[in-house]
Amino acid sequence: MQVECNSTQAATNESPAGASTSATVGTSGASAKCITTTNVNKSSKQQRGALKDVGILKREDFDGGPVSLDEIVCGLYLGNLTAATHMMTLKIYRITHILTLDSVPLPQHITEASFLTTKYVQISDMKKEDILHHLDSCTEFIESALAQEGNVLVHCYYGVSRSSAAVIAFIMKSRHLDYQAAFEMVRKRRRFVQPNIGFVYQLKLYGSMGCKIDTQYQPYKIYRLRLAGDQVLKAKILPQSFNSLIQADPAVTQENPEPIVYRCRKCRRVLASKAHILQHDNRSLITQTPPKASGSNIASNNGTTAPQASRLLEKIAVEILKTYTPTDTESQSLVCRNIIFVEPIAWMRNITHNTQGRLNCPKCEQKVGNFSWINGCQCPCGEVVTPAFYLIPSRVELSKAVQNVQTTL
Ligand SMILES: [Zn+2]
Ligand SMILES: [Zn+2]
Repeated sequence: MQVECNSTQAATNESPAGASTSATVGTSGASAKCITTTNVNKSSKQQRGALKDVGILKREDFDGGPVSLDEIVCGLYLGNLTAATHMMTLKIYRITHILTLDSVPLPQHITEASFLTTKYVQISDMKKEDILHHLDSCTEFIESALAQEGNVLVHCYYGVSRSSAAVIAFIMKSRHLDYQAAFEMVRKRRRFVQPNIGFVYQLKLYGSMGCKIDTQYQPYKIYRLRLAGDQVLKAKILPQSFNSLIQADPAVTQENPEPIVYRCRKCRRVLASKAHILQHDNRSLITQTPPKASGSNIASNNGTTAPQASRLLEKIAVEILKTYTPTDTESQSLVCRNIIFVEPIAWMRNITHNTQGRLNCPKCEQKVGNFSWINGCQCPCGEVVTPAFYLIPSRVELSKAVQNVQTTL
């Protein structure tokens, strides 16, 4: 769902009360159709002349279809933009709170309505959009509205992806459900729900953190590094808002030094502590692990034809691989030690101003690794890590002596 402003339908009689502009636009003929707010600025003199009569076109002049909203749990509604801008609907359903997840906010006559409390999250429906960092505040808003015995409408443009992601997050958190169970529950009430693939990943990550951001959780660290990598790709430098990604130098950290550290093999300068390591599973071992469940029975029981069965089997295999969780013993043996991926650390020079480069020991200048914000690094095991900051195992050594933590730079 990447379409945001392309409704070809001018506002109809379902438009909010008082939106006289909409009605006028509807009578201005074909030229008003398909014109987005952006296009208005670029329109011909003739169009500008015509539009002058009807005022400036606004977002609310182009609706997301007829009013559509569904009650997911008591007092919690999920719907489209039209529902959120239709005053009559808001009154009929006794909506007291509106949570908007959209690229533009609601019109003023809605946000300033005396009976409404509103919250706006600016977000596009793109898989790389970061919805994860809004989920806590969104679920809190819904919780608060329901605690006041209000009725809350969560909406985006169509009520399919962004708003459903927020509602699913709330269901996961309030009912202690995993993503799939929460998704199914919401879909039973509104059959259109389908968060985009990036949001699904983020919701699953949210669930695995216990429905709250855990900055020490490794998959979260990797997620945030990827967000930063996307920004570096655009800006060629690391935006300041991501500076917190760069970890304190373990060689100068005095409080509670970690006992297990990696040192430069040449000069023994401390380079990374165990907490900085971003572990990955050895992909060559994972792919050798045969999934125990057999798909053949499922396919034949369904009476599917051969091509359908093979597609089904492929899907099953992928799903099984995704959900396959090794036991503790297996997990230990799966951890790859070919390359030591780490978080960005303060001694790494130029990592905020370059997209990629070498990592030299800050004391002896020996090359100890490489980094790239934008290109993936493929470990010999086959796993591709992006962004990648890594130490070369032959250039570093593991040390367990806490008293040896150095203070020199
Ligand atoms: Zn060194
Ligand atoms: Zn590996």
